Amino acid sequence: MGFMTDAVHAGQHPEATTGAVIVPIFQTATYAQEAPAVHKGYEYGRTGNPTRLALEKNLAALERGQFAYAFSSGMAATSTVTKLLKAGDHVVCTANVYGGTARYFRQVMADFGLQFDFVDTSSLEQVEQVWRRETKMLFVESPTNPLLILSDLRALADLCRARQALLVVDNTFLSPYFQRPLELGADIVIHSTTKFINGHSDVIGGVVVTNNAAAAERLAFLQNAVGAVPSPFDCWLILRSTKTLPLRMRQSNASAMVIADFLAADRRVAMVYYPGLTAHPQHELAKRQQLDPYGQPGFGGMISFELADFDTARTFLKGIKLFTLAESLGGVESLICHPTSMTHASVPPEMRQRIGLRDGLVRLSVGVEDVEDLIADLQRGLQLIS
Ligand SMILES: *Cc1c(COP(=O)(O)O)cnc(C)c1O
Repeated sequence: MGFMTDAVHAGQHPEATTGAVIVPIFQTATYAQEAPAVHKGYEYGRTGNPTRLALEKNLAALERGQFAYAFSSGMAATSTVTKLLKAGDHVVCTANVYGGTARYFRQVMADFGLQFDFVDTSSLEQVEQVWRRETKMLFVESPTNPLLILSDLRALADLCRARQALLVVDNTFLSPYFQRPLELGADIVIHSTTKFINGHSDVIGGVVVTNNAAAAERLAFLQNAVGAVPSPFDCWLILRSTKTLPLRMRQSNASAMVIADFLAADRRVAMVYYPGLTAHPQHELAKRQQLDPYGQPGFGGMISFELADFDTARTFLKGIKLFTLAESLGGVESLICHPTSMTHASVPPEMRQRIGLRDGLVRLSVGVEDVEDLIADLQRGLQLIS
């Protein structure tokens, strides 16, 4: 089926006893058995839940994967995937990966005997330079937050296959509507479903999707053994949201393109980071790698841009009324954030300098409001700094 059809229907059918069109919230911790070990496939709520199973089938279909496992957060998904590894294994990771991922690797898993190198994965040479015999996983985020740097997923997948390591891609920023890493050769896709997949800023969730049967078997075991599972209600909310994922992504993408062009034409804006702009250094890669299910390139709803400095950014933000000043992203409502004082405040200053993260940077998550209203809002902010 087509992506939009799958978004609405995959994993779902009218409920057997009542005919309820929408998958119910099976809010139960346990299930009655007819005789010892004779049951309908469900024994205990951590191990299995019909609402969760419907969500997992839906998300597997959208990522073009066979197996999906839902988690209580994006970080729970990442931490469970990391448990595919053993002490002594080495992981190569994108340098400006999501801050929570870097924190988990450096401050939690390093104490359990895993070794990490953080490099610019947009450069194959840098990846190869730190590669070791013990390297078992390449963990990549593309595009990155907040500077929207891409990594060539197909090239990295070839490298991983030749060296028998797993390529894990955090696909949160684009959602499967605009990027399907499994089709490009990745082994495992992770999402914070909190973001575009749920899209309504009312759930924390995560998912792991794969076509690798061996990894899937272990992930199914780990989902139950580690236990970071989502609630039935959260699964239901996310399942409701994926029905409109294509519509929301198209609108965010279309509006983001208009806003990026608007910002790029303003003399007060020093730099705009958006892969849809022809001036983006990886625009050609973006057009090749970030495709909607119908073959059209898409660049997503995230834009970053640079003002002169923190004071200028602060003044600009005083004029902003429609974009909400908040962390997170991917909701139907547009958000604005100042990375170096908010989402990336814990990144040490020398590291910020190394990755080009400046104090004048502002990040937008473009929602589905009228784009004219969003532009008028940005205009109000810009007028304060003219
Ligand atoms: C938010 C986010 C995460 C973490 O997800 P949570 O749901 O907040 O645990 C991981 N990766 C990216 C790219 C994110 O934006």
